[in-house]
Amino acid sequence: MSDKTYLDLPLFDDAHRTLERELDAWCAQHLHVDHGDADAACRALVRQLGEAGWLRYCVPAAHGGALPALDSRSLCLLRETLARHDGLADFAFAMQGLGSGAISIAGSEALRAQYLPRVARGEAIAAFALSEPEAGSDVAAMQCSARLSEDGKHYVIDGAKTWISNGGIADFYCVFVRTGEAPGARGISAFVVDADAPGLTIAERIDVIAPHPLATLRFDSCRVPVGNRLGEAGQGFKVAMMTLDIFRASVAAAALGFGRAALDDALARACERPMFGGVLADLQLTQAAIGDMATAIDAAALLTYRAAWLRDVKGQRTTREAAMAKMVATENAQQVIDRAVQMFGGLGVKVGTRVESLYREIRSLRIYEGATEVQKLIIARETLAGRKA
Ligand SMILES: Cc1cc2nc3c(=O)[nH]c(=O)nc-3n(C[C@H](O)[C@H](O)[C@H](O)COP(=O)(O)OP(=O)(O)OC[C@H]3O[C@@H](n4cnc5c(N)ncnc54)[C@H](O)[C@@H]3O)c2cc1C
Repeated sequence: MSDKTYLDLPLFDDAHRTLERELDAWCAQHLHVDHGDADAACRALVRQLGEAGWLRYCVPAAHGGALPALDSRSLCLLRETLARHDGLADFAFAMQGLGSGAISIAGSEALRAQYLPRVARGEAIAAFALSEPEAGSDVAAMQCSARLSEDGKHYVIDGAKTWISNGGIADFYCVFVRTGEAPGARGISAFVVDADAPGLTIAERIDVIAPHPLATLRFDSCRVPVGNRLGEAGQGFKVAMMTLDIFRASVAAAALGFGRAALDDALARACERPMFGGVLADLQLTQAAIGDMATAIDAAALLTYRAAWLRDVKGQRTTREAAMAKMVATENAQQVIDRAVQMFGGLGVKVGTRVESLYREIRSLRIYEGATEVQKLIIARETLAGRKA
């Protein structure tokens, strides 16, 4: 049984506490995921989460959502709880939000009406296509480009996007490409591109240590109607950053869920594993590890839900707080999970043990949506800005 005392903090409303309790109970009863085929599992999970109503938290109420606007604390609680139960379920949920976030933020009424209700019902799978082979951490270096067609009715996209989650199974992609209004970040625009758009192909499927659908996309003179642009031309980078600002804190929450699962398993194991005439938990070195693990989890939770609360309640930009939460929660979860593996001994690395899968699951969270080094630079920039002003 996970520690839920953090829910008593004044950072939450009763509606959040109820949401967490209901999802936790639903997961225990309904979430039995066969991970054998990641594509099939993800498709099934999106449909199941949609039918049960959980995906309604990924879009605003005007287009089939549960709440008037995206609520960071709800997104974080949902991701933490799903991650604690099943990493792929968290992934399926998160990508519906991240993949459609740019439409919620900057899409025209027509685009919102066309895509968001289907995202919320789990009938359309979403994806977010920003990274490129030569532009990951340095995302403004992107080369994938779009030009207006001669009749001015279409954009024609050429180039590649890689590491795209849901690549290969998505029904649409929110794609960020260079349109050249200005150099660097001010010359990028965002578009919704349907998976069956002529000229869009899956160049390569990518296998990672914790399997989920992932691919490199290729755009060859891919024509997209001008009406599929998200926001103004040249504003795409801003739209991408606004989307990431919401979902970065939710990556921290997912890490928290993985870390809590590892701590739960480590505590159970330490209390039952006979050793040196007692059990593993009787040994002081084990107690020191548990002290570190529990503190690491609570520190991550406080930073995560502070960032979410500031955004929801104070309506503040939370670039700095979300970066702190993402960095600390993912790094701490990695340490907690590693310690749990150590406490399990050989069983910790046996395929099929939960801590073994958590060990693989947590690793990429320290890399995507801005690696830890990138988060440090964001925090430093925001902190120095106050001094330099
Ligand atoms: C499982 C997974 C899923 C993903 N899903 C998506 C997705 O859905 N959509 C999408 O657009 N992208 C996605 N990505 C891409 C992800 O955002 C990039 O991998 C990430 O931004 C890092 O880019 P890169 O891989 O090109 O590494 P690089 O940019 O080459 O960076 C390599 C390393 O350099 C270090 N580094 C970075 N900046 C600095 C610095 N200033 N100083 C010192 N060191 C530094 C970091 O340790 C970093 O890990 C995904 C990646 C993974 C692994």
